[in-house]
Formats: sequence, structure tokens, C-alpha cells
Amino acid sequence: MDFLRPATWAEALAAKADRPEVVPIQGGTDMMVELNFDVRRPAGLLDLNRVAELSEWSSEPDGRLRVGAGVSYARLISELGDRLPGLAQASRTVGSPQIRNRGTVGGNLGAASPAGDSHPPLLATGAVVEVESAGGGVRMIPAAEFYLGVKRSALEPDELIRAFWMSPASGPQYFSKVGTRNAMVIAVCSFAIALHPGERRVGTGIGSAAPTPRRAVAAEEFLAAELDWEARLDPAVLGRFGELASEAASPIDDVRGTAEYRRHAIAVMARRTLTWAWNEFRSGHFERRAG
Ligand SMILES: Cc1cc2nc3c(=O)[nH]c(=O)nc-3n(C[C@H](O)[C@H](O)[C@H](O)COP(=O)(O)OP(=O)(O)OC[C@H]3O[C@@H](n4cnc5c(N)ncnc54)[C@H](O)[C@@H]3O)c2cc1C
Repeated sequence: MDFLRPATWAEALAAKADRPEVVPIQGGTDMMVELNFDVRRPAGLLDLNRVAELSEWSSEPDGRLRVGAGVSYARLISELGDRLPGLAQASRTVGSPQIRNRGTVGGNLGAASPAGDSHPPLLATGAVVEVESAGGGVRMIPAAEFYLGVKRSALEPDELIRAFWMSPASGPQYFSKVGTRNAMVIAVCSFAIALHPGERRVGTGIGSAAPTPRRAVAAEEFLAAELDWEARLDPAVLGRFGELASEAASPIDDVRGTAEYRRHAIAVMARRTLTWAWNEFRSGHFERRAG
């Protein structure tokens, strides 16, 4: 197996264009498991760890954050946790400290598993994935259009993920995950919520309860129409939101849980995360923390 080690982003793109069959490796926390268990035997590995740009993040002129695909979960939590609280909360649930030191959102996107923990917050916040190829240039893909099927994404064979773009939180954000224990667990299912008070809008993301991570669009539309932002949370609105979130899922029975349990759990997590976010919003705590 060839092992390619580009030193720059341009070299990495050139290598991928020249040999689309080589597989990128960043933290290796998915890739090495697949190699060790012989799930995959690629013709070559394209090690991205020397490409410095991938491990950088920046505040862009439009106010959004551009976070390199190679920024680890640990750095995301410590350096960006205040601005990306939903993603940071999800990141804290990923694996163990060792996995969070090596693993990246870029790798989570590359794997495109429906159970990946970064996907629901990326969806709830309207994140955009920046991908690039030597021949085709840059493509900006909204997270909602990135996931195409089980472990399949919109990434072309000659493309690499450069970064993801996300606005700093404009309101409370939460993530919830059901697993068989508290740590080192693949999600049975998960749910993310992001309040956008300025737009009177709520974003959602469902994980591990459909062939791809997905938004609960009808539930979002329901809240856009029915949520009274000046009042206490109406229990009837909360209940209906949970039902609609659950209806957006299309889970399967597998070793981690049944479809029926997942549907139930999505409704519970949707109600719970909305309640947490609403309480934070109404208490003014978010504004004090952000300001
Ligand atoms: C013990 C253990 C526990 C885990 N727990 C969790 C968990 O709780 N939640 C969770 O979501 N995941 C978990 N994982 C899976 C894994 O840690 C995550 O998916 C992580 O985000 C992968 O990031 P990485 O940088 O290590 O990716 P890698 O393993 O390097 O790559 C993963 C995939 O992405 C591709 N890729 C990487 N970088 C790029 C790029 N720049 N452009 C295009 N493709 C790219 C690779 O080719 C590969 O297909 C766990 C793994 C282990 C071993």
C-alpha cells in the first residue's frame, strides 16, 4: 500500500487528482479501525497531517467561522466551545480523550456515518462544507445536501474536504445522544437543536435514526409558525414538536436498538433539547454569556 504525505494543500489536491483511488487519512480513528479489521484495503493512503492549513480555524469577514477539516474535537471544545456550543457539546460525547485528540469533524464528514455525532449540530446550525479538487475548484455544500446515503456523501472521488463554515451561535444550542452507556459509545440515536432568536427560527438535526443524518423539517416549520418567542413554552407546542421530530426519522432495527425505541427517543430528545434551549433563552443567560 502506498503512503503519500503531501506537505501542502495544493500537493494534497494534486495527489488526489492524480490518484483518486487513494484514501485520505486525518486522525485515523475511523480509517485505522477499518484497516486493522481488514474492512478496507485501499491502494494507498493520503496522509493529510502535514497540511498545516487543515488544522487552522479563522473568523471570516462575513462573521462566520471557517474551521479546517483537521481541527481535532479536543481543540474544537477548548478553542471554539463558546462560539459553537452545540457542536462542542456533541464533540464532548465522541469516544474518549484519546479519540477526541485525534478525531476530527473532517473525518466524521468523510466517513458520513449516519451515527456520526458532529452531523446533527452541523445540520441544526446550517453549516456549509467546503470541498475542493485540483480540476473543479471549490464547492460549498450545505450540510443538508452533503449526506446522500449510508456512509455516502456528495464528495467526488477527486475532492477533499477543506473546512466547514458555521456562524457563531446566535442563541442557545444543545445536543443529546442516547447510548448504551455514558462514554465510548456509538449513538443509538441523537438530536441537536439551535435557536436562532433573531430570525425567530429553530434548527434541528437527527442522528442515527435514518440512512443519513437529516433535519426534522416539518418540526422546524411547525415551530416557525407556532412558537411564541415572548411567552413560556406551551406544553402542546412542545409535544407536537416532539411528534413531528419523531416522524422525520426513518430508523431501522439493529444491534444498538429497535426502530420503535429510536422513534420514541427522538421525540423525548427533541422535547428535552428544546426545553433546555428555551429555558436558557428565556432566562437571558445566553445573552449574558455571549455578551
Ligand atoms: C474507540 C472509538 C470511539 C469512537 N467514538 C465515536 C463517537 O462517539 N462518535 C462519533 O461520531 N465517532 C466516533 N468514532 C469514530 C471516529 O472517531 C470519528 O468518525 C472521527 O470524527 C473520525 O475523524 P478522523 O480525523 O480520525 O478520520 P479518519 O479516520 O482519518 O478518516 C475518516 C474518513 O474520512 C475520510 N477523510 C478524512 N479527512 C478527509 C478530508 N479532509 N477530505 C475527505 N475525506 C477525508 C477518510 O478517508 C475516511 O474515510 C469512534 C472511533 C473509535 C475508534
